[in-house]
Amino acid sequence: MIRNFFGHLHTVNRHRFLVCRYCFMMGLYWQGLTHDLSKYSFVEFWPGVRYFQGNRSPIDAEKKEKGYSLGWLHHKGHNRHHWQYWMDQKNGNEVYFIDPPIRYVKEMVADRIAACKVYQKEKYHQSSALEFLHSGRETPLIPQKTREKLEEYLTIVAENDLKSALHIIRDMDRE
Ligand SMILES: [Zn+2]
Repeated sequence: MIRNFFGHLHTVNRHRFLVCRYCFMMGLYWQGLTHDLSKYSFVEFWPGVRYFQGNRSPIDAEKKEKGYSLGWLHHKGHNRHHWQYWMDQKNGNEVYFIDPPIRYVKEMVADRIAACKVYQKEKYHQSSALEFLHSGRETPLIPQKTREKLEEYLTIVAENDLKSALHIIRDMDRE
């Protein structure tokens, strides 16, 4: 358990450090500094320790075992860089999604690159995040405009060195 505690803490810290660096390269300073801070709250941190894997998200493991994850529900409810944050229901049984503002789509780019790096370690390559987007079974659920933007940005990441890619993205679609 102690090993899981420090393992999870290290994963979160390392993830936040990388996302912060990438966000800064895109000019998103506040988002870089505050990314995923809710992961230190008890409701999110504890399941992260309990279901610690090291090479994949503990949330998936928790969902597999319990069928749901309270930590994830808390996380996506508090973090605008998740497209699930922008999902709701209206008129009774109608589920709807709206496209997040572009600065959060850019934060998703940083988040996805960092997640691939942390979990894939030396197997990471510059197309990792794009490949993950293409293979992800949840991808068709992402609202179309956001999905297309993500694909466009991650293609730039796949085709350029990371720093240049993030500078190109910084200068695109300025709000
Ligand atoms: Zn997050």
